[in-house]
Amino acid sequence: MDSFEKLVQMFREFPGIGPRQARRFAFFVVTRNDSFAHDLLKTLNNAKETVGECNDCKRLTDKKGGVALCKICADPTRSKKELLLIAKDTDLVQIEKSGEFKGSYFVLGGLIPLLEREPSRRIRQAHLLSLIEKRKKEGLEEIILALSATNEGENTSEYLREILKDRGLKIFELGRGLSTGSEVEYADAETLKFALKNKK
Ligand SMILES: [Zn+2]
Repeated sequence: MDSFEKLVQMFREFPGIGPRQARRFAFFVVTRNDSFAHDLLKTLNNAKETVGECNDCKRLTDKKGGVALCKICADPTRSKKELLLIAKDTDLVQIEKSGEFKGSYFVLGGLIPLLEREPSRRIRQAHLLSLIEKRKKEGLEEIILALSATNEGENTSEYLREILKDRGLKIFELGRGLSTGSEVEYADAETLKFALKNKK
């Protein structure tokens, strides 16, 4: 494979990028001036070195200076009584925008498709369970499942309810407002605020 095709293949691995877009990106990169490719490389390397997962919630965070926790997990004013579970980082951004939630988060890293044989591999199950044990010592009382109102989201909620039962915690889900089929990432702040207020 020549190096241009290799570049196209690499862009194809990006989420949501099809073959035509990948080709446009590759073309764009090789036809821009030399400094663009250099800057891109430098920025990529920097990001790879300084951005990492928060030890607790697993969202991406700036790890400059060896910081292990993100701003939210390290914030002493955030309640440790509630832990809100979301599928991905972008869902957290949306919920923060609603301003309704003052507890802490955990990013599952995905959702479980129907009929998945090994559901524990689709979410960060081991990390979640160890965080829950840690948070219980800090007063954790409730878990809120803030997953999309899709088949995968509901399947994941069901699975989580099963593995989290008998741990002495109250388990809630987002309430009305998030209509069937809608994804947390695309819900507006007001809708999420309402859904959080009406957790059930
Ligand atoms: Zn965190």
